[in-house]
Amino acid sequence: MEALVKPVNHIFKTVACPKCSTLSKRNSLRTRRVRDIGERNRPLILEVTYSVHRCKHCNRFFNNPHPHIAPPSCRYTTRVVRHAVEMRKRGLSLEKTRWEMRRLYFVDIPESTLHDMQAMEESKWTI
Ligand SMILES: [Zn+2]
Repeated sequence: MEALVKPVNHIFKTVACPKCSTLSKRNSLRTRRVRDIGERNRPLILEVTYSVHRCKHCNRFFNNPHPHIAPPSCRYTTRVVRHAVEMRKRGLSLEKTRWEMRRLYFVDIPESTLHDMQAMEESKWTI
C-alpha cells in the first residue's frame, strides 16, 4: 500500500538560540521525512520543512526544534513513539508491539528501534 505524504511546515522568522537564548534569524530551510500513524488504512509520512537559524552571538547554526512533531534524528513521529511505548508499558512483547503497530497504524518499526524508543522515553521520565 502506497503511503500518503503530508507536508508540515515548522518555519519561524526568529527562534531563541538553545545555548544563549539570543533571538536568531532564519538562515535556510531543511526537510525531513518521518513516519506517522497511518490514516484511511494507508501508511502516512510527514514531510516536515523546518527553519535553520544562525545565532550571531555564538556564531552557530541550529535547527528550529519540533519535538511535538518528531524527536531529533528519529525516523518516526512523537505520536508513533508514544503509541509504541504505551503498548510496551501495557506488557506487550517487542514482537507483538511491532505487529500491533503494523496492524493498527500501518507503521513498521524494527524491534531494535522499539527498544530504543522505550529507552529514550524512560530516560525522559528520570530527568
Ligand atoms: Zn547563541
